[in-house]
Amino acid sequence: MSKILIVEDEESIADLERDYLELSGFEVEIENAGDIGLQRALQEEFDLLILDLMLPGVDGFEICKKVREVKNTPIIMVSAKKDDIDKIRGLGLGADDYMTKPFSPSELVARVKAHLARYERLIGSSVQENEIIEIRGLKIDKTARRVYVNGEEKAFTTKEFDLLTFLAQNPNHVFTKEELFQKIWDMESVGDIATVTVHIKKIREKIEVNTAKPQYIETIWGVGYRFKV
Ligand code: CA
Repeated sequence: MSKILIVEDEESIADLERDYLELSGFEVEIENAGDIGLQRALQEEFDLLILDLMLPGVDGFEICKKVREVKNTPIIMVSAKKDDIDKIRGLGLGADDYMTKPFSPSELVARVKAHLARYERLIGSSVQENEIIEIRGLKIDKTARRVYVNGEEKAFTTKEFDLLTFLAQNPNHVFTKEELFQKIWDMESVGDIATVTVHIKKIREKIEVNTAKPQYIETIWGVGYRFKV
């Protein structure tokens, strides 16, 4: 159930808004003072805020600005003065909608529903799944940069992770140590290619059951390494 905070000092208006919203299945809380309204908007999780512009203490204008600095919660601003609405709209405070009092409560409910739906779509589309490479018991979470072997997480250094991921992304391809060194270490270190051998050894200790008979990273004698699938 979506939770809405109304910050409104005219109690009759706040009650009317609440009654209509509750009838539509929303959970509604009311604050009559701006400072407490701001505090609650920042500290609690509301799905939408309805802010009156003129409030004792902190006004709706300020609440909107402060909330927007840290949250994307949809905000509907209401004011008795059309001029004020035009003014705040021009300031680009980040409110999602503006309504001039008096408005019909059913119009408010319709707008609340529209903004909640839009916000949910926005949130839904921004949730992306992690990019994962899974080969037999080995799972590489590229997004979280974590490696699991048969469900157990193993600690990898940055270069170990990059090297393993590069090989796993290019299976059945033999890379020379020189190629791997250039690919993973790039220009940031002038080192010898023995670094690659050392890292392959460390990776195998973490992912292989038997490092003498590796099932993931094969050594191609005289050439380099290949990731087996
Ligand atoms: Ca007011």
